[in-house]
Amino acid sequence: MRISFIVILIIPWIFYSQEKYPQNYFVKPIDIPIALSGSFGELRSNHFHSGIDIKTQFKEGFNILSSADGYISRIKIAHGGFGKAIYVDHRNGFTTVYAHLKNFSEKIEKYVKEIQYKRQSFELDLYLPKNKILVSKNEIIAFSGNTGSSAGPHLHYEIRKTSNQKPLNPLLFGIDVNDSRRPEIRNLYHYNNINSNFSNLNPLKLSLKKVNDSLFRTNETSVNGFTGFGISVFDRQDLANNKNGVYKISTYYNDELINSINYDAFFFEESILINTLIDYKYYINNKERIIKLFKTPGNTLNIYKNLNDGLINEVKGNSTFKIIISDIKNNKLYVEIPIDSKKNIKSENKKLNTEFTFNRKINNSLEYNLNIENHKINISKNTFLKDVNLFLNKESDSLKILNPDLPVFKNIRITFPNTNNLKGNYLVNIDQNKNEIFISSNFDSKNNFVAKTKKLGTFFIKNDSISPSIKSLSFKNNNWISNKSIIKFNIQDKESGIKKYRGTINGKWVLFEYEYKSNQIHYQFDDFYIRSSKNDVEIIVEDMVGNITKFNGTFFRKN
Ligand SMILES: [Zn+2]
Repeated sequence: MRISFIVILIIPWIFYSQEKYPQNYFVKPIDIPIALSGSFGELRSNHFHSGIDIKTQFKEGFNILSSADGYISRIKIAHGGFGKAIYVDHRNGFTTVYAHLKNFSEKIEKYVKEIQYKRQSFELDLYLPKNKILVSKNEIIAFSGNTGSSAGPHLHYEIRKTSNQKPLNPLLFGIDVNDSRRPEIRNLYHYNNINSNFSNLNPLKLSLKKVNDSLFRTNETSVNGFTGFGISVFDRQDLANNKNGVYKISTYYNDELINSINYDAFFFEESILINTLIDYKYYINNKERIIKLFKTPGNTLNIYKNLNDGLINEVKGNSTFKIIISDIKNNKLYVEIPIDSKKNIKSENKKLNTEFTFNRKINNSLEYNLNIENHKINISKNTFLKDVNLFLNKESDSLKILNPDLPVFKNIRITFPNTNNLKGNYLVNIDQNKNEIFISSNFDSKNNFVAKTKKLGTFFIKNDSISPSIKSLSFKNNNWISNKSIIKFNIQDKESGIKKYRGTINGKWVLFEYEYKSNQIHYQFDDFYIRSSKNDVEIIVEDMVGNITKFNGTFFRKN
């Protein structure tokens, strides 16, 4: 007995230690040549991309195949995010994820719909019992689509470690993408004379000369004090021209590796730390993401493969920095930066003008409970990962919390008095691009708005007195629509936005699917439909502040 127990424990250990990424266990999830519109670890807004985006020829409806035998462990349907998504757990300790799906295979669709009707909800997040729905390798589990926060038809595909849901680079498992092209460089930047708290990062663009297809070189550069580099790069594969992320960036100082970034895996919890990897201030002001090839405070990302931080102090004699950028097929691009130490001069960097006079210093190790004219701001420790300056003020009806260049890593709690207490009041934020954004909030016992947000900027109260609009797109009142398989409505709310909707036919809840990108809800006649020739439809839509619109109409249908 004891012996077999030990054997069971040891087998998985051997498996993981010998082969971190089992090869050819997973087949590609779609039966077309793989062209990518997104790569693993790609830099996105406040997060790294957790999978690969497989292009679907601008169409929906391709068969989506399970990459290996397993069982469906989770089905999630959301208006935004992944839209419709399936998670499959496999025996080898990995989970595959398929997202933005149009719909599911028949057996899965039936299972999902029953639960949607039981719970009277389009959105679902189902964790399925082990072995409830088994799937086999290459089985059609779904059809590709464009649901959720997707900018065009594609399949978002992930491989995660099941035990901790850590996303891993799917291309490390042998899923093949033709790629014979080298990564490309957009721009190279020099950070010179960096001070001890990294508060003076001012990237200086270096001009690049192409030496040959694989090598770029800068002019001889002078350095002063602590010096480091930043780079903006992309990679294209053979079957599409999309500019995707690269796989690996290694920086050498006189042939010694001083910084290496490798997009093998990351944890979802650390994804927000992307704002410590990029030059956030430069990104906010110029919309270009520079990857800093040195670590700054608070950067605890696990994408580094060496212990050095990438900074060099006091360069002596003639020396060279070398940067090697690779894609996953090991196509490489080299960049050389020759340094002439005799040219050492004072920093050439121009000081960026800062518009704001900051009136508050925030010490990263302290918690703050600030009160400005009954407006409260709670900032917990490590919110900014370093000591920062803020401008805090109450100006007429708005609360300003400003430092536009600053990434926020933890929620800030804002308590805002609901002054005139009108029906339809809601809290908004204006960012530096003058976008007004609805801020989700609750009321406390004193009827103040309480919001938790990672947004800085100007906060104030707006009023939404206009109810949502509902327009029938499939029938006019009392029409016969026997030939239609679907009925659609346009639903919109111009101010605070749509919070929820509900559709019934003859008083019974029916499944209306919501596609927020097209402002449409639709119902597809299904097994749950009560067959009668006269049908009364009711649609109720509510906006974020509780304004409600009701639509009532009748259609006729032959049975
Ligand atoms: Zn994606």
